Amino acid sequence: MEKTAIVTGAARGIGLATAKLFLAEGRQVALVDIDEEELARAAAALGDERAHALPCDIADPDAVARLVGTVEAALGRVDALVNNAGIADFGPLDAHDFERWRAVMAVNLDGTFLMSQAFLPALKATRGAIVNIASISALRASTLRVAYGTSKAGVAHLTQQQAVELGEYGIRVNCVCPGPVRTKLAMAVHTQEIIDAYHDAIPLCRYGQEREIAEAILWLCSDKASFVTGQRLAVDGGFEAAGIGLP
Ligand code: NAD
Repeated sequence: MEKTAIVTGAARGIGLATAKLFLAEGRQVALVDIDEEELARAAAALGDERAHALPCDIADPDAVARLVGTVEAALGRVDALVNNAGIADFGPLDAHDFERWRAVMAVNLDGTFLMSQAFLPALKATRGAIVNIASISALRASTLRVAYGTSKAGVAHLTQQQAVELGEYGIRVNCVCPGPVRTKLAMAVHTQEIIDAYHDAIPLCRYGQEREIAEAILWLCSDKASFVTGQRLAVDGGFEAAGIGLP
């Protein structure tokens, strides 16, 4: 039977690039996103019958529970789960009221937890792989990212918790920490000052591209990474190695 993958946040950006690589590899792919219109447009543009557009709010436990049956009907099995959907909200601590804090936690952290838990039986059946998308903001604190950075540090730690607990089922769980990529999410919060500072701080002197993050995700989901679990892979042009603070 053909291998499959679920990619959340797949209507655009890193998620869509990941879905494209899985399709090119011959997998059936469930593209999951809260934005129904953008998801439908993305799926139509892909023009591939193996791409299944499945709208869902991953922060809603009931919607995620319903998604299990929808994915089962569309894919039949789950070999990989990529928890990529996320939102960003930058601002100082005193500007983050509880509502803003909870909104970020709900999608980035709760959503990753809910999806992983819901698809655990399916992943146990295939001895599948999970890749959670964190961020370099999980690795460094900054003045602007109290909710975003904390949620992503949570995702990075959740990855290790899952890897330790799920190893006995043959399920590998890893985390990718992307550096900056010019997606809608990033461009909504990166001021020109942040963009310039990243160019100075990143040894490769540029932003990454969606596909460069997706290639790392695909490798971690593949059999080539069969002894890799519990890892945080920074795909960041050397930002973390340079040891410079986040702009
Ligand atoms: P993006 O905004 O292009 O894509 C994110 C997708 O997630 C969107 O299609 C959006 O509709 C979807 N989404 C948001 N909330 C959702 C929900 N509740 N349920 C289902 N789908 C939802 O952004 P991107 O940059 O491609 O982000 C992908 C991931 O990469 C995110 O987790 C982000 O935090 C992470 N990341 C991005 C960067 C960057 O610079 N772009 C850097 C580090 C980490």
